Amino acid sequence: MKLILLGPPGAGKGTQAQKLVSDYGYAQLSTGDMLRAAVAAGSEVGKQAKDIMDRGDLVPDEVVVGIISDRVEAPDCAKGFILDGFPRNTAQAEALDKMLDEKGMKLDTVISLEVVEKDLFDRIEQRAKETVGGPRADDNVKALKKRLEVYHEQTAPLIKYYGDQGVLKTVDGMAQIDAVSAQISDILAEV
Ligand code: ADP
Repeated sequence: MKLILLGPPGAGKGTQAQKLVSDYGYAQLSTGDMLRAAVAAGSEVGKQAKDIMDRGDLVPDEVVVGIISDRVEAPDCAKGFILDGFPRNTAQAEALDKMLDEKGMKLDTVISLEVVEKDLFDRIEQRAKETVGGPRADDNVKALKKRLEVYHEQTAPLIKYYGDQGVLKTVDGMAQIDAVSAQISDILAEV
């Protein structure tokens, strides 16, 4: 199973991805997590990405495309993978299509988590409080506003992109965590 979880920051992509990892054994490929690990490790990619991430902008496409390309064929992806936070714009989506095609792979489904935007501020505020070791550098009101702006401009058009490909499904991301998981499981059972 190869799927994308799509949705604005705080929609619950990471939470649902982790559930899919434990329930189905798929690998979670979160570009946000990978970039934060690169920042923490002080690698070249991390140095390049840190300030961009802190202000809520997108890191360059070639960086994330490269990261994903290296990951999809790893052994832990044998049962499938969940793309979480990637692709985030049309150029990345096109690069992904090309990459999968070249590797003889195909996306099974794209699941869009639909949420009420004004509630995302509360969710992120809550996450900032609960994060062990202190909040993420971009979990504050200023960066979140920027992340939402970037989401609308660059990521939301992917809903149409994948709708046109006939692979888009939507779930109610405002439901309880388990109810969202149940909706996702139903979709996976069908595709
Ligand atoms: P969010 O909760 O905002 O969806 P993520 O953990 O997915 O957070 O991403 C955090 C930051 O990492 C983004 O704001 C961006 O700077 C960077 N990032 C993650 N994925 C991508 C991507 N696919 N393309 C460009 N930048 C990315």
